[in-house]
Formats: sequence, C-alpha cells, structure tokens
Amino acid sequence: SAVCQLFRESLYEQGFCEIHTPKLIAGESESGAGVFTTDYFGTTACLAQSPQLYKQMAVASDLDRVFEIGPVFRAENSHTRRHLCEFTGLDLEMGIHDHYMETLEVVHKMFRHIFEGLETRWARELAIIREQYESEPVMFTAEPCVLHWPEAMEILTDKGFDMGDQLQDLTGAMELALGAAVKEKYKTDFFMLDKYPSLIRPFYTMPDADDSRYSNSYDIFLRGQEICSGAQRCHDPALLVEILKEKGIEVGHGLEKYIDSFQHGVSPHAGAGIGLERVVFLYLGLDNIRKASMF
Ligand code: ATP
Repeated sequence: SAVCQLFRESLYEQGFCEIHTPKLIAGESESGAGVFTTDYFGTTACLAQSPQLYKQMAVASDLDRVFEIGPVFRAENSHTRRHLCEFTGLDLEMGIHDHYMETLEVVHKMFRHIFEGLETRWARELAIIREQYESEPVMFTAEPCVLHWPEAMEILTDKGFDMGDQLQDLTGAMELALGAAVKEKYKTDFFMLDKYPSLIRPFYTMPDADDSRYSNSYDIFLRGQEICSGAQRCHDPALLVEILKEKGIEVGHGLEKYIDSFQHGVSPHAGAGIGLERVVFLYLGLDNIRKASMF
C-alpha cells in the first residue's frame, strides 16, 4: 500500500495521469514472456502480460505522461524466488522533450520518493517487519547512478565471468556480482544499467541511433536484482515494421492497430515497468517474493 501510494504521489506531482487498460486482449503484449490464453466467445484471448502497447497508445493520443497500477499475467516458470504468474505492475510512459534520459530522471526521482517515504512515514511498520526480517535502509545516490552496458561487461569480465560476445542477457549470478561491485564502487544499492543489446530486448525498443546493436533501454537493480525494465520506444511505424520482420514477429492480432496509432505522428516516448512485489521483497530483504504477495 505504501509503495503504491508513494508511486502515485510522485507521478501525480510530476504531471502524470492515471489510466486503466484492458487485461483481456487479442494478442501477446510482450514478446518472449509466456502468455495465458483463454476462450473468448469461441476465439482465443490473452491475459495481458503488460499494459505496454496501451500506455504507448495513450501517449500517442496526446496524454503526455501516463501511469497504471494493475495486474500482470506471465505464464512462465514461477518456481523461483522472484517470479509470480500474476503480479502487480507499476507502469509509466511519457513523451520525451529533449532526450530519453528525462525518463531515467523521472523514475529515479520517483524511487527516491518511495525509499525516503518508506523510511520516514512508514518507520513504525518497517521497524515491526525488521524485528522478524532484518534489513538495512536502501543506499541510493542523489542523482541517477547510470552504468552503460560496456562498463558492466568490463566489471563482470574482471570478476571472472565469461561474457562471450557481450550481447547475451545477464544471469542471476551476474546480476548479483554486478550489484556487489557497483555498491563497492558507487556506494549505492540502486542503479540503472543502460544501453542493452537490441537482440535481447522486445521489438518495441528504440535502437541506439549510433549503433543499432545496442538500444536506448535500461534495467534498474535493487540490492543486485532487477526491479524495473524500461526503454525509449520505437515511435517510427516504418522502423517498427522493419524490426518486427527482423525479429520474425507477425503483424496481426492487434499489432496493426498499435502501429497505426503512430501513423499520424507521436512524440518520441519512453517508459518503465516495475513489479510491486519485487520491489517490496527486495526492499525488505525477504528471501522469497511470495512473502510480499498478500494472496
Ligand atoms: P526477469 O528477467 O526478472 O524475469 P523480465 O525481464 O521478464 O524479468 P520485464 O518483462 O522487463 O521483466 O518486467 C518488468 C518488471 O516486472 C521486472 O523488472 C520485475 O520487477 C517485474 N516482473 C517481471 N516478471 C515478473 C514475475 N514473473 N513475477 C514478479 N515480477 C515480475
């Protein structure tokens, strides 16, 4: 409740509008993440894996900054300490005025508001939890701590990991090692890793203008584990169709409506998706995400 309240407060204060998007939809909303399907009067419907396409369409409709708190469904292996099949997504999307770093600044400000608010306004509840589950307040920097992908590759290679062609996603062990190294170097439990390889990001991610092997996309880590994924989105319909072809994704199942929504012009935009239970379990230093999920 506190995390959601602080999330809302910070985003309202930063000029966002709250929206609610469909959860019963015609096609997949995230490539790569498993989808639950269900019968929809004789045809197949999917349970939304994120509000991604809708929040972008909201920006295309000239709502400059939008957010949503809502259920997210992922038909993926959830026999891990940090995955659930149904979780609560904290999502935001915003127009970019000068540079995509604006989004990282908004998100950083929002998380600072959450961390500071938890330690001050919810001190009594934190003290009760910490009697049973020990945790320290999260260390964070006043300005965003942003690493670029090549720096992370260097750190992990130094730590003895074989990073291969440097274009593969990080394993859990790599994330933890990177988190420990960043804490030592930059004195923070909370950092952003920017410029992910395009190959491992969803189709709607904007490639880096200088080198399309990389993209304007980032993950955010808390105590060495991912709590947030975000990116600039590809707002150019022609480039979007090209990327879909490259990734072998068929246009159809509602995707054409999404692409169409950009045909009449849309601001360059970027956003983020955060898992509520992930934030709570890592903030409180719990050993399993289920301890941060009420049901
Ligand atoms: P991971 O690599 O940890 O499986 P992901 O890259 O699939 O996550 P995204 O699709 O980028 O995650 O989702 C954005 C955020 O939603 C994640 O950073 C995380 O906080 C949360 N999240 C994603 N999948 C799950 C899940 N199965 N259970 C709980 N939270 C999740």
